[in-house]
Amino acid sequence: MRTRLLAVALLISGSLFAQTIAIKAGNVIDPAKGTVAKDQVILVESGKIKSMGVGLAIPAGAQVIDLSKEWLSPGLMDAHTHLTLTEVIGGNAPFESYYLKETTAYRAMRALHNGDILVHAGFTTIRDVGNDADYAIKDAFRGVQAGWFVGPTFLTSGKIIAPFGGQSNAIPHEQGEFWRYEYIDADSPAEMRKAVRQNIYYGADVIKLVADNNPYHLSVEELRAAVDEAHHAGRPVAVHVYGGEAAQNVIEAGVDSLEHGFDLTDPQLQLMKQKGIVLVSTDFPRAHLDIVGTSGGILPEPQVLAPKIIDRLHRAYRIGVTLAFGTDTVIEIPGKTRADLMFDYLGVWRQAGVPPADILKAMTTNPAKLLRVDQERGAIAPGQAADIIAVPSNPLEDIESLRKVNFVMKDGKVVRTP
Ligand SMILES: [Zn+2]
Repeated sequence: MRTRLLAVALLISGSLFAQTIAIKAGNVIDPAKGTVAKDQVILVESGKIKSMGVGLAIPAGAQVIDLSKEWLSPGLMDAHTHLTLTEVIGGNAPFESYYLKETTAYRAMRALHNGDILVHAGFTTIRDVGNDADYAIKDAFRGVQAGWFVGPTFLTSGKIIAPFGGQSNAIPHEQGEFWRYEYIDADSPAEMRKAVRQNIYYGADVIKLVADNNPYHLSVEELRAAVDEAHHAGRPVAVHVYGGEAAQNVIEAGVDSLEHGFDLTDPQLQLMKQKGIVLVSTDFPRAHLDIVGTSGGILPEPQVLAPKIIDRLHRAYRIGVTLAFGTDTVIEIPGKTRADLMFDYLGVWRQAGVPPADILKAMTTNPAKLLRVDQERGAIAPGQAADIIAVPSNPLEDIESLRKVNFVMKDGKVVRTP
């Protein structure tokens, strides 16, 4: 329906992108500074913000959008998603069982469905970090880029690179290396380099490693090889790790972001701050953990993990580690969309004592830098892509107002209006 409306609009206007859109904006938030500019006019052309200011002349023939009562923010980002994956399908089944039930094509369709939900809820950029079948997420994004579907910008990792066995353990030998549907084994610096190159060859924007899901973990040398290879190709490295020696290796190797980090100590957090390593904290709310359980044995019990997550986020914030919002949401709760579930994480951030302005920064400015898209996205400013959302009340006072996103513009196209 939406696509059809757009097609009609294209016919009527001749060329949609030639037209200027003028947004009358009551309150424009700059999340980098935590400030608000009042009564701005934002001119959007060819998908980008052309200019912004008080009392800007609106060109004749421009489409005017009145958001004078609203609070505008750059589109939200989630630095840790798995849009092709729904983990709980009628029970706490191990991860690998999904490979038997779901094809890559079906997984790509799930990503498109989730992408549609997310962009309408205000998430205009996501970073999808693996568990996407056989590179399904890249094809899903090709569908969005072709204009067949509405969705956020997807940055993708391809297959997860990990020591032998990926995130599985003890799959019977006669089944073969079953996990390779979603993982690449890398058990030396040379294998790591090859795995990184393989993923980049198939389109990875980021390299995703899992360091520690078995008693053995990635060495500093293996991690350094990944960082070296990825950085020379202009890609950041994101590493799943909980804590201990594995996390120490990850930090020492100078990766770009550490994902989860539930068991990080204060000295480790301090070292992350020193080295400029971002924490993508995936702060699962207790209610979600109760559904996931131990996720087939790769997570601690919910009553242990939930308080640990809050404490770790609190300490990371206090120490001054750069934080990026990442949810890792892969569950379903009846009556809630995936976006609703992602907004549930805001409650954990509030419990950890992170002020609203810093939460919004972790959902815009910080991930834009981490994802290396800050020249194009993450701010409402001339030259930036027109990824703009609006809410009816000030998120710098109450971050939960982000649940009420009622206007979304993605790359200059209106996908939701109040
Ligand atoms: Zn994840």
